[in-house]
Parts: sequence; structure tokens; C-alpha cells
Amino acid sequence: MLIRHCALCNKEIQVSLPYDNSYVYYKTKRKWYHADCFIAVATDRILNGGWFGKTKDYVLQEVSKDNLYKFFVKHFQAEYVPPYIFKRLENIYSGCEKGLTQPIPPHELLDIIERKESYLDKQFIRKGITDSTTKINYALTTACGSYKSYKEWRAGIEAEQEAVKQSKADQQYSAAFNRMTKTRSTESKKESMFIDLDDD
Ligand SMILES: [Zn+2]
Repeated sequence: MLIRHCALCNKEIQVSLPYDNSYVYYKTKRKWYHADCFIAVATDRILNGGWFGKTKDYVLQEVSKDNLYKFFVKHFQAEYVPPYIFKRLENIYSGCEKGLTQPIPPHELLDIIERKESYLDKQFIRKGITDSTTKINYALTTACGSYKSYKEWRAGIEAEQEAVKQSKADQQYSAAFNRMTKTRSTESKKESMFIDLDDD
């Protein structure tokens, strides 16, 4: 969580994930606002600028960067993170890192490193890496190297979730179809009973 202050009322804004639409980051002026405060001061033209959606993307990015930094501090015992690491991170986010063919957004970089935590720990022991900056660099190199397979893995999971969703929809459809056929057959039974009675 990040703490920011509203540019209008000056009260605290707690920036965290998932984004809940209760505040806005107005990037043009680099200012944060509570949703109500933003609506109170923004012109119609600005209100139509899609700032809630833009804030959602921005918050995901900024909170993930912050969480990644906290991960370095907590798991790699980094008391000090040298500026060139931040430069390298920016290069990874923008896709300029050597050997990268596409940018890695902060939330995915964090996800990869978190998932590889125990693997990384084993590597550090095997290779005798104890220095926190070397650990961070090693983790970043590993994450960049595995990004392609990570993307494929994610795509596989998303396809699976989509398939589950589809089969649920199919089940619901066939359940509804069964109910409908049942109702029909009861109806036709009633109908035939009625006809039988009529015949009598
Ligand atoms: Zn406010």
C-alpha cells in the first residue's frame, strides 16, 4: 500500500490493490484526488478522460513496483538498493533490457520472482551468493530469461479458465434444456390425459 494525499482536501488516500475506484490519479498534473473531490473540481472534459481506468492501470504498476522493492528488502535482505538496479528495472519495464524482446510489466515481474523464490534460494546456496545486490541481479536475469515460458504458461492457464467457463455455460444450457424438455413432456402427458378424459 502507498499513502498519497488528496490535492483538494489534503486528507490521506490509501493506494492499494485491487483498485476500488475511490480515488483518481490525474497524471496530467501528477495529482491524486478522492473520487468525490475529483468530480467536484474536474471539468466535464476532464471527467470524460477515462481517469478511473487510467488510475487502475497506474495503481497496478506503481503498487507492484513498490511490492517488488519490498520483496527485495524482505527476501534478499537488501538494506540498500543501488540506483543502477532501479535503472535496470526501468529497462525491464520498458523492454530495453539486453536480451529482452518485449517489456515485462511490474506486476508480472513480481509474480515471476515470487513464484521462483525457492528456486532462487537454492541457486544462491549452490552458487554461494550472499550479497543482496547480486541476489537481485540474479533474480532479474532469471526472470527475464523465463519470461517467454511464463507468458506461455499464463496463456495456458487463461485458456483453461476459459474452457472451464465455457463448459459451465454448456452445463447450464443443457440443464435448462433438460428442464424445458421435462416440462414439455409433463405438459404433453397432461394434455394426453386431458384428451383421454375428453374421449371418455
Ligand atoms: Zn479529497
